[in-house]
Amino acid sequence: MPEEKSNRSPADAASRRAVAPIVCYEVDQLPPSNLALYQQAREGMNKVDEITVPPRDGATFEIPAGSFFRIVSIEGPQVGDLNLWNAHDLSERFFSGKTRQLHATHVSTGDRLWSTLPGLRPMATITHDTLDWYGWDEDGGGVHDVIGTRCDPYTNYMLKGVDYHHCCHSNLTRALVAARDLPLGDAELHVHDVMNVFMCTGFTRDTHQYFMKASPVRPGDFIEFFAEIDLLGALSTCPGGDCGSSHSDDSTPCYPLKVEIYQPAADALQGWTSPDRSGYSGTHGL
Ligand SMILES: [Zn+2]
Repeated sequence: MPEEKSNRSPADAASRRAVAPIVCYEVDQLPPSNLALYQQAREGMNKVDEITVPPRDGATFEIPAGSFFRIVSIEGPQVGDLNLWNAHDLSERFFSGKTRQLHATHVSTGDRLWSTLPGLRPMATITHDTLDWYGWDEDGGGVHDVIGTRCDPYTNYMLKGVDYHHCCHSNLTRALVAARDLPLGDAELHVHDVMNVFMCTGFTRDTHQYFMKASPVRPGDFIEFFAEIDLLGALSTCPGGDCGSSHSDDSTPCYPLKVEIYQPAADALQGWTSPDRSGYSGTHGL
């Protein structure tokens, strides 16, 4: 801390810092989760489709409400950047920031991926995570973050002065162009802050800067979601590979990721319905 700043510290600085933090949003107040039902339903599910995302590339996939999908590591440690949209209305999309506030910086089984305002409903619930053993490491790192935005060519150009076209932002944009026949500029505006699947990240203890370290994911690991609404998903295989050394370039080994879609047995979800959009009147008090 600069000296002039320390000199300005008030006499009661220590006591001001010592007040107890409180959690902003109590997770107990969220609408009840159907996790127990989903975990029962996943026992008898069948794989109905699979998509392979090549290294340093992106792909989209449609997941009907009431289905499960897995993101699977298949050939080597690889990070994936995930976008989710309401399949019928791309303006409702994954809300990384609110998901982080409602759950935590990193998500795992039982956490839900929430949609943007004014929808604010669960788009997907995490039903299984083979990396849930990782927890928090000695550096304060964890897996599957909802902190990082996505690697993008604009920040990369700002920092390095070079064009690179296989950042996750570009991979997701091209995948959406192909899936929805949108002009590039329109598709780009739909690409949003991601869930960093398999990525191991945290904040440095001294400067609180965002760090990454080699992902602990290995072939066979997967994270599984239940689709709460009809979803369009897009996944980019990050050019950073396991994100243990660099990103936004071709210097790191990169591997494909697989997306598997599963259908539960017909009677497995009896009584279940898709969550409604937020009940707020939307009048803003006017
Ligand atoms: Zn990336």
